[in-house]
Amino acid sequence: MASVKIHPAVDGGLKPAAKNFAGGTLLCNCSQNRVEIAIKGQCAHNHVCGCTKCWKPKGALFSQIAVVGRDNLSVKANGNKLAIVDPKAAIQRYACKDCGVHMYGRIENRGHPLYGFDFFHTERSNESGWAPPEFAAFVSSIIETGASPDNMGAVRARLRELKLEPWISSPRKPPRPPALCGRDRAFHGFFPSPATTYAHSASMSSGLSTSSHGGMPLMP
Ligand SMILES: [Zn+2]
Ligand SMILES: [Zn+2]
Repeated sequence: MASVKIHPAVDGGLKPAAKNFAGGTLLCNCSQNRVEIAIKGQCAHNHVCGCTKCWKPKGALFSQIAVVGRDNLSVKANGNKLAIVDPKAAIQRYACKDCGVHMYGRIENRGHPLYGFDFFHTERSNESGWAPPEFAAFVSSIIETGASPDNMGAVRARLRELKLEPWISSPRKPPRPPALCGRDRAFHGFFPSPATTYAHSASMSSGLSTSSHGGMPLMP
């Protein structure tokens, strides 16, 4: 099972969060004039994501993505190298124009339930102690980026072995309602409900993809 590679940050087992973690600096992949993003404090809702929009390290099946309050994220250096990947997406993902690494994603629509959260990839920082991923989202979407459908059982089994419960695993196993409230609930509502999973399968066969954050309907 360990032969199924999910993401370099989790393949060797999850590392625990450091107490009183102060945050860190995210770096892009350029050899010089690197984009630097400062994050104050610990991340929240870290997870692995199989959607087609989140940036993944080369060869990884999933991305690893977490959030922080937007007031705790700032561009520290070489922000002139950042460009928005898709201005129409709900999450505006800022990528380095030279190396392509997504440095952070921001929601500008104040009416969006996740307004106030910025999305980022903890592995872009050299600091250790970030809270590890807690679950897996958009698991079946990895098929759209080339993963073999025949391998999905093994992928889900490996995710469970890592305690990264697929948020929506199958229609037979609906998601456990999170014991959360307010914005945390909104966060989890952001992921597809079983109904939207069906819609997603339908849209896949019609060639339209809804398998990413941003275009996803919210759970009631
Ligand atoms: Zn770069
Ligand atoms: Zn994603």
